[in-house]
Amino acid sequence: MIAIPREQYLRESTMPPVQEFRLDAGEFRITNGSRFVLRGAIAPSAGEIARQRIRQYWKCEGDVQIVSEPASLGAEEYFVEVSPEKIEIHADTAAALRYAFSTLRQLAESERGVMRAGWSQISCLKLHDFPALAFRGIHLCWFPESSETDLEKWIRMAAYCKFNYVVLESWGVFPFRSHPEFGWEEKRVPVETFRRLVALGKELGIRLIPQFNLFGHAAMSRCGTGKHAVLDLHPEFASLFEPDGWTWCLANPETRRVLTELALELYEAFDHPEFFHVGCDEAYNAGSCSLCARYDYSELFADHLRFFHDLFRERGCRIMMWHDMLLDRADPRWNGFICFGNRSLSELYKTLPKDIVICDWQYSPVFYPDGSPREDWITSEFFQNAGFDTLSCPWLSAELILSIGRHAAKKHQFGVLQTVWHKDRDGALDFYGAGSAAAWNPEAGSRPVVTVRQECFNRYVRDIAHDMNLMKYTDFGRHQYQVIPESHQN
Ligand SMILES: [Zn+2]
Repeated sequence: MIAIPREQYLRESTMPPVQEFRLDAGEFRITNGSRFVLRGAIAPSAGEIARQRIRQYWKCEGDVQIVSEPASLGAEEYFVEVSPEKIEIHADTAAALRYAFSTLRQLAESERGVMRAGWSQISCLKLHDFPALAFRGIHLCWFPESSETDLEKWIRMAAYCKFNYVVLESWGVFPFRSHPEFGWEEKRVPVETFRRLVALGKELGIRLIPQFNLFGHAAMSRCGTGKHAVLDLHPEFASLFEPDGWTWCLANPETRRVLTELALELYEAFDHPEFFHVGCDEAYNAGSCSLCARYDYSELFADHLRFFHDLFRERGCRIMMWHDMLLDRADPRWNGFICFGNRSLSELYKTLPKDIVICDWQYSPVFYPDGSPREDWITSEFFQNAGFDTLSCPWLSAELILSIGRHAAKKHQFGVLQTVWHKDRDGALDFYGAGSAAAWNPEAGSRPVVTVRQECFNRYVRDIAHDMNLMKYTDFGRHQYQVIPESHQN
């Protein structure tokens, strides 16, 4: 018994869900010499993008023909028509062409009715697809416990589901040359590895943005673990931090000097990206030392932000920051919403440069007095109305992710930045399924059957594993193990 009609199954198995989809009768066989017609204002080099993907996805050599004429489409918009004779793609940019091929890969199936498939095939269909939001990002963490294989897998998966940015935060693993003490010596990841992933991202059409926390989270370790990537081994640097070590000491001029050197090293290793994320969330106990106490702290913080804003702006790069310290937690307007600032910090938005991208993270449903969940994410609207490009940033729960995506699309915000933190494996289906839907097509993602089912997602994880030529049991799938060995449990 088939659970849902095939057209519905195909449409809903795309990740993110395609905007317009129609299934026709018949199949197109993808094998040596199969015809692909690319129509649009694309450069002749686009032919190589297509041939490379046909080779990689379906293990054959396609007959690729380019018809150079503007299709007059958006930069990421494409049309696809699959008929028994050919696949025709309309796209004006390499990005749109890549997206068309990602969708085709998800919709293809192997030859049916045989023991060993000799080719792949795809049902005849028509597609029209385009994103709801311009900035579609996912925030990934490189913990000392993370593996290079996993990071590469998730970057590839992000590109596969049409995210165009990855914010990559190093948790004490980046090998700083200027200050090697700032990170776990035994857990350093070679800088060449970062450079390789940045270059891979470019090839896949996804830009990697470094994050370095210039305010709170200075321990470069999850707070609940009690670790500190600098002070555990180098207590001599305690003056650069507030007494508890969690937040940088902004009144110490040496802090700014060190942070500048660290930040610019990251910027260079990520090949001069157009954005740099400076963190700035959860700066608990900020300004608690005897030196900071002598200053107007909100002015100290504003000066700190402006310094790094200018440092990067001179290089043609915009800083992005988390929103929470810029709102007053005692302000009744924000009841139920995440914010950790005080009254004086909450005035800063008026004077900060408006080309700072504000990343508004909201991780819990907020309710009206009658108990119904709010669909208006007013903190992100607040920054948007103040003139900032604003990214809405969900975390767990498909429902919440899609609610935030719907609101961002309705308000024509800059985009969505899906956060992951330490849940990259457990939450993967929500992050890539619902998260990509939230940024690309949040209305479709809200239909009763929510975007990608686990089984489809697992297939896409397998596609990525094949792209990476993985061979080891622990490298496949979302989790390293099906049953966690007792030695790995707390
Ligand atoms: Zn201080």
